[in-house]
Amino acid sequence: MRTKSIKKNKINIVTLGCSKNTYDSEILMGQLAANGKNVAHEEDDGNIVVINTCGFIDNAKEESINTILDFVDRKERGEVDKVFVTGCLSERYKPDLEKEIPDVDQYFGTRELPKLLKALRADYKKELVGERLMTTPQHFAYLKISEGCDRPCSFCAIPLMRGGHKSTPIEDLVTESKKLAAKGVKELILIAQDLTYYGLDIYKKRALADLLKELVKVEGIEWIRLHYLFPAGFPEDVLDVIREEEKICNYIDIPLQHISDPVLKSMRRGTTMAKTNRILNMMREKVPGMAIRTTLIVGYPGETEEDFETLKQWVTDMRFDRLGCFTYSHEENTHAFNLEDDVPEDVKLQRAADIMEIQQRISEEMNAEKVGKQFKVLIDRKEGQFFVGRTEFDSPDVDNEVLIDVDYLKAGDFYNVEVTSATDYDLYAKLV
Ligand code: SF4
Repeated sequence: MRTKSIKKNKINIVTLGCSKNTYDSEILMGQLAANGKNVAHEEDDGNIVVINTCGFIDNAKEESINTILDFVDRKERGEVDKVFVTGCLSERYKPDLEKEIPDVDQYFGTRELPKLLKALRADYKKELVGERLMTTPQHFAYLKISEGCDRPCSFCAIPLMRGGHKSTPIEDLVTESKKLAAKGVKELILIAQDLTYYGLDIYKKRALADLLKELVKVEGIEWIRLHYLFPAGFPEDVLDVIREEEKICNYIDIPLQHISDPVLKSMRRGTTMAKTNRILNMMREKVPGMAIRTTLIVGYPGETEEDFETLKQWVTDMRFDRLGCFTYSHEENTHAFNLEDDVPEDVKLQRAADIMEIQQRISEEMNAEKVGKQFKVLIDRKEGQFFVGRTEFDSPDVDNEVLIDVDYLKAGDFYNVEVTSATDYDLYAKLV
């Protein structure tokens, strides 16, 4: 095998898992580029590969392991020279992975960026606040406002992989947002493990509303979207800022996981059905027309038929605009791992299917009500004959899309449209 000089190396970053991993990959790429490295995202011809893994639940872990094995095979075939692994799976299972898949050159945890950079013959440049190479379309970007989580949710392994909650100071986030706006970003998607916890560590108070009031001042940013809020200790002042600030999308993503009180108690969610409904009703009162997205878990240990009926009725009554549903995954070293995983897999899958069937009907009805109405749409891409965009009620990759059949629209631009027809998860529209 002909040895290559360092200069010719091409580093290929492969990202698995959630938007927080996307953010971390972008930061890694920004650091490598600032060191003059030839770096790319998910391009096949890199001879050095860094896999940013996910270790959240079974399916995600399986995908990460298969990706590692795939690149190790390619290394054996001489197609790649080095394989490095980082991210949540590596943070959580490093000793096992080092034993099971020793052909990986080195494994890194989620808080070992300087070490990973050193292995890639690059220096960690602290001064590069928020400097990153984007992997999303140029007009929207994720803004991670904190790392880790201090919540005790019984089923969740994230604190094991990401550590305790750590907020990024407002001034750094404003600096980062200005840099993104200068690159053409118009939509900022705020992410964290729990957005509502922001500031409790560094400002000794919930400071999400304060952060938002600074971010809306950033020129060029037109939409600000909130993901991953938490019901317990919900900072109600955030709703006032959403209502008052044009730039903040009337959209909230708040994973609620369940609603039956015995299950919420066992999940250690720190809330109840009554408290959760109070927050949801307040959202709809304070910000009329707000789109609410949530995520649920079915098949949690001890979830009875009655608990599930309560959940189904609540999903039917609450009519969420957007909803996703996972089956419970029995994760070692979590609190719930001490419980018996007593709901059979086929029952878990059936319950998830039942929930999504209800949601599909609700989404269809809600979309039908949008026919004839006008909306501002941000165009993401062209697909077949359609230009595909989103309203302020839709987040990339997870929510509805608007399809417009015209000759030309510019990705990254806003257009006003009128909905002409609808399906369960898509809208068709014409320009107005
Ligand atoms: S809030 Fe709960 S579910 Fe979310 S990351 Fe923290 S511990 Fe996990």
